Amino acid sequence: MSGDHDVDHHAEAESYAALRARALESLLVEKGLATTDAIDEIVRTYEQDIGPLNGAKVVARAWVDPDYKRRLLDDGTAAIAELGFGGAEGAEIVVLESTPQVHNVVVCTLCSCYPWPVLGLPPSWYKDAAYRSRVVREPRAVLGEFGLTVDESKEIRVWDSTASLRYMVLPERPHGTADLPEEELVELVTRDSMIGVGLARSKPGVASTPDPKKPN
Ligand code: FE
Repeated sequence: MSGDHDVDHHAEAESYAALRARALESLLVEKGLATTDAIDEIVRTYEQDIGPLNGAKVVARAWVDPDYKRRLLDDGTAAIAELGFGGAEGAEIVVLESTPQVHNVVVCTLCSCYPWPVLGLPPSWYKDAAYRSRVVREPRAVLGEFGLTVDESKEIRVWDSTASLRYMVLPERPHGTADLPEEELVELVTRDSMIGVGLARSKPGVASTPDPKKPN
């Protein structure tokens, strides 16, 4: 667990950014330059499609290329940049490998630090006080609420992201996918599997976490 948050500055910066975003949105709508629906659509696209797809490409590459995987675990930011991803909210990304022995899950206990270049915008539950506090104290129970049962024999490690250091999970490659090419493996990698509240899908089109719900 990392403890280098500057609490006041961090929370202040977060609310300032949120205020700015809301002010900007109001202005765009007022001037007739955008509709709230259009803005919601952009956010949705960034949150659900563009962002996590970058991370999925990183994961799939690591699954098929052991040398890339080594570089990714050694220096996440540099290996992610090899695929062309980087920038804002991703200056320092550390990639955590989940294995049959260890399951990794990521949180930001103070606000919502998240690796934007690979995962896009954080889902709303990631910012909830309930998730942020409970996943640290009772990770197994919280993961259970996401529909993810982690075997008692498996260690769960919870990692606290900060503004200067953000984590991404390299989920286990699903069984029975040895013959799948990299581009098909990409489709198996879900956003939740890269946060650690889900697993990668076992087959194309199958949900990784049945009916994920917000922990509370
Ligand atoms: Fe944060």
